[in-house]
Amino acid sequence: MNAMPVEPRWALAALRDAARVTRVVQQRLGTRAVTKADRSPVTAADFAAQAVVSAWLMTYDPDTPLLAEEDLATWRTIPNEVRAWVLQAVHLVRPKARWDDVEAWLAHNRGVAHARMWVLDPVDGTKGFLRGAHYAVALALIDQGRIQWAGLACPRLAPEALLGESDPARVSDMGVLAVAAPGVGAWWSPLISEENWRRLRVSSVANPAQARVLRSFEAAHTHEEQIDALMHVLGVHRPPVRLDSQAKYALLAAGAAEIYLRIPPPQRPDYKEKIWDQAAGALLVIEAGGRVTDLDGRALDFSQGLTLARNRGVLATNGLLHEPVLMALRRVVG
Ligand code: AMP
Ligand code: MG
Repeated sequence: MNAMPVEPRWALAALRDAARVTRVVQQRLGTRAVTKADRSPVTAADFAAQAVVSAWLMTYDPDTPLLAEEDLATWRTIPNEVRAWVLQAVHLVRPKARWDDVEAWLAHNRGVAHARMWVLDPVDGTKGFLRGAHYAVALALIDQGRIQWAGLACPRLAPEALLGESDPARVSDMGVLAVAAPGVGAWWSPLISEENWRRLRVSSVANPAQARVLRSFEAAHTHEEQIDALMHVLGVHRPPVRLDSQAKYALLAAGAAEIYLRIPPPQRPDYKEKIWDQAAGALLVIEAGGRVTDLDGRALDFSQGLTLARNRGVLATNGLLHEPVLMALRRVVG
């Protein structure tokens, strides 16, 4: 159980630090959100998490570029109160950090894709974070479009949910850390216990009617009507599991649900997924025995820069249900 083979370990330490700093912002400091140029919200937690993960990357793998969601230009526009929370949170894990350090860490983000790069979403599911609910810190290493390492910290996910012992979407203070690399499997441990690793394996449900469907909590991130129609076509009768962020991929990899759909919303039919929103979660599911494609059955192409420009939406399943869902999608989505 403890012979977890995925390296490097320091990247897991980076995710544990990020989980600690985001947690203190969510629970103690404050979740005042600032609206970015693309109208999405950002909080002190996004900057604090990106800073502490960058610090690890700059020490242990300084030559591999980082592509991350937050940038220095936005950092310079946020209110002083929010900046002060960033430094306070960072001090939890880097007690000697100064403003200069935070800026140097944030400046490590190249802002553009490279053939080989680390990809970071410091707070995936910011809207869930703001509600006090689920979010994830997602880190992946991509080389020539191939995901070589995936790590996901889900500070609000319950270990019992991965064990199938509680409602999958339950909000918990325990949290979960999941990791995968090609060919060596996907693994998880509770965030607080350092080395209590278990293998992640997808469920063996083969009857679509028995499936549990994962979907976004935010209606605007997906196509509600089409997902409802698809569940109807498949004869799914179990209630959907709604939660924010790539924590959905961790639940799928653990066998706590079978189908995860991202269908572009009706108001943005050409929406292209950001690579940092999918890379870590996708490898977890694949290494747990599942399948991940787009809605047309094509492999996700992580070599196209910032987005999955060549794909439409995402379908992740336990594998057994993949073809039946693709067939149903042809009827519902076209
Ligand atoms: P989720 O919590 O699964 O809904 O996913 C959260 C992610 O959805 C965020 O990190 C955003 O990058 C992404 N997102 C934002 N707007 C959209 C949209 N219109 N369609 C799909 N995803 C979106
Ligand atoms: Mg995100």
